[in-house]
Amino acid sequence: MAKPVVKKEYTLSERIYLWEILKGMKLTWGHFWFNFKACWRPGPHTIPTCWQYPEDRTREISPVFRGEHMLQKDDKGRETCIACGMCAKICPAKCITIKKGKRKEGEEDKYAAKTYPAAFEVDLLRCIFCGFCEDACPKNAIVLGQNFELARYTKEECILDKRKLLMNYRKAKEEGKLKPPRKRVPVVPAPPKPEKDEKADEGAEAKKGKPAVAGKAKKKPAEKAESNEKEE
Ligand code: SF4
Ligand code: SF4
Repeated sequence: MAKPVVKKEYTLSERIYLWEILKGMKLTWGHFWFNFKACWRPGPHTIPTCWQYPEDRTREISPVFRGEHMLQKDDKGRETCIACGMCAKICPAKCITIKKGKRKEGEEDKYAAKTYPAAFEVDLLRCIFCGFCEDACPKNAIVLGQNFELARYTKEECILDKRKLLMNYRKAKEEGKLKPPRKRVPVVPAPPKPEKDEKADEGAEAKKGKPAVAGKAKKKPAEKAESNEKEE
């Protein structure tokens, strides 16, 4: 049953609202004077709440920020992506396209695994930067970096091919903006399904007066042929 609504009794000062307005104004003016005084302080960030972007790019970006994609390499400089297609499969915007290639002899120093992406494309115009691809990747190959400047002049420029993705990695490495490797969540195996008590099922079916058949009753071949003819 729904609870009855008990209306609060307001005091006189609460009904006038004056005290609450004064409290709010005190907070507003406090912030105003703090920022006003900060304007005259020397240094790059004169106003703590305003960052002079793009002149000032010293602001730190959160390590969990999801910006432009990159394809990472391992310590030996080899491509780690194995072209398994997990990222493309999980992508809700369907903006990843991968073409699988097989490593040839003598290419061991280029690709870490036997398979590699011969082509890899990410359509930034469709991407919603959810990070699912990053989470699904078993090799920590695809990563959403810290670059948030995604404005381009043409649509073609918004499609990141493998060359651009590797270039993004190289740039982030040079600038020291690589993300630390993520801790993988251990996969817990599903609990075994309880075995069906077939005898109990048969008994229950017999009580209902139906033949005890597990699953759907199969049509006999003759019946099947007849039904097909009727349909035609
Ligand atoms: S961030 Fe999300 S939408 Fe963008 S490519 Fe990855 S999975 Fe797809
Ligand atoms: S980036 Fe990761 S998930 Fe995507 S194909 Fe390569 S290895 Fe698989």
